[in-house]
Amino acid sequence: MTATLSSAAPSAKASTYSAHLTNGDPSKASAAYKPTHPGRFQVKFQPGSYNSCLVTQRRFAKDETLAMMDSAEYSNEKRYSTVQVGKDRHIELNSDLLYINHSCEPSVRFEVDGPHDTWKAVAERDIEAGEALSFFYPSTEWSMSQPFPCNCGSKSCLDRISGAKDIPAQTLRKYFVNKHIQELKDEQSAV
Ligand SMILES: [Zn+2]
Repeated sequence: MTATLSSAAPSAKASTYSAHLTNGDPSKASAAYKPTHPGRFQVKFQPGSYNSCLVTQRRFAKDETLAMMDSAEYSNEKRYSTVQVGKDRHIELNSDLLYINHSCEPSVRFEVDGPHDTWKAVAERDIEAGEALSFFYPSTEWSMSQPFPCNCGSKSCLDRISGAKDIPAQTLRKYFVNKHIQELKDEQSAV
C-alpha cells in the first residue's frame, strides 16, 4: 500500500501477477493465490468464468482509498482485464483489484484520470467487511473488448454493458466517470 513509484511512467518490467483465471481453473488459481492487499480484501474464487469476486476483509468508510494502483502497467492492447485510463491508454492492474466485478450500483470507483501515482480505488459509500466489491465499468471503459449482459440485480441495471459509448449522456450523468470518458461522451454528443 505504501509503495511509491519513482519513475515518470509505470515500470515496464514483466508482470508477476498470477491469479488470472484465463485458463478457467479456480481451484488451481486458488491454491497458488497470494493476496496483494492482505487485511484489506481478498479474492473469493468460484467456478465458472468471471464468477470469482473481490471481498473486503474490513470496513471502509465512504471516500476512503481501498488501494492505490501502484503495480499497474501500461498495456499495448485493450483486453477484458485492462482498465482504460485515457482516450488511448489502457493498463493492467496487476493486483487483486482485477477481481472487482461490474455493478450498475457500484460500491467502489476507480479514479484513473490523474498521473499514474494517483490512480486508486475509492469507496463510493460505506462498505462493510465481507462485501463483494464492484465498480461501474463504463466509468473507465469507452468501448469494451467483451460486452456482457449485466446481472447485477440493481434497480437501475443497464442490462447490457458494452462501455460508455453506448450509454445515453443523460444516464451516464448519474454516475461518477473519469475525465476521458466524459470528454469522449461530450465529443460524441457534439456530432
Ligand atoms: Zn447491472
